[in-house]
Amino acid sequence: MRGLWQRLRQRSEQRAVARRAIPDTVWQLTLARYPFLALRDAADLVELRRLTSLFLDSKEFSGAHGLQLSDDMVVAIAAQACLPVLRLGLRPYDGFVGIVVHPDEVQVRREFVDDDGIVHEFDDVLAGEAMEGGPVMLSWRDVSEAGESAEWGYNVVVHEFAHVLDMGDGLADGIPPLASVAERQRWQAVLMADYEAFCARVDDGEEASLDPYGTESPEEFFAVASEAFFVAPHDMRAEHPALYELLAGYYRQHPAGRP
Ligand SMILES: [Zn+2]
Repeated sequence: MRGLWQRLRQRSEQRAVARRAIPDTVWQLTLARYPFLALRDAADLVELRRLTSLFLDSKEFSGAHGLQLSDDMVVAIAAQACLPVLRLGLRPYDGFVGIVVHPDEVQVRREFVDDDGIVHEFDDVLAGEAMEGGPVMLSWRDVSEAGESAEWGYNVVVHEFAHVLDMGDGLADGIPPLASVAERQRWQAVLMADYEAFCARVDDGEEASLDPYGTESPEEFFAVASEAFFVAPHDMRAEHPALYELLAGYYRQHPAGRP
């Protein structure tokens, strides 16, 4: 039965890839615009292109504020979203369908209640947002500049999809679903040690290769570490060797090359 089911699934995947085949010109343009993708070896790129087609087949994109989404825009987003799950497959993304693309960053009104019960309102500016069950929101300006911003480890698509992975167990806590309690404990130990050291460095005003936004919380730290892991892996490994190895084990990828 298992063999039959696998064959059926394989066939349905092949049909989806054919339905959403990415034209060569669009794929080459994507690789040229996002050099951190082009750096991958040939086998990775074949798999990335296949996953990108499957992603396009299973997700719904919409442009906000009249933004028209062209083929190369949705392929750019899909390819970057598939990079973290290159070895994990698309199943971790099954919990949502919609991707809403805004022309630029989005201003939102936030409120929080302090310890004395007083409600504070403030404006927040978002380049992206991921919520459990979706949709994922992205600023096209930030996505389109990802080729250049990779230099400082910034990538909004990887950031938001790292949050999606993190929330796979229903909790946004910087710990994605893992196979065992022992793995979870090890993850927490490595992540928290690195997180606290990073917060101390940022507090001291030291230069860091990760986005200081990562000091917000362990889940933001996981998301910014994932960005750098995929788009500026050498700097990330040099500054956070233990965290790099943790992420390499989880994502089953070694973007900085094997030591
Ligand atoms: Zn975030």
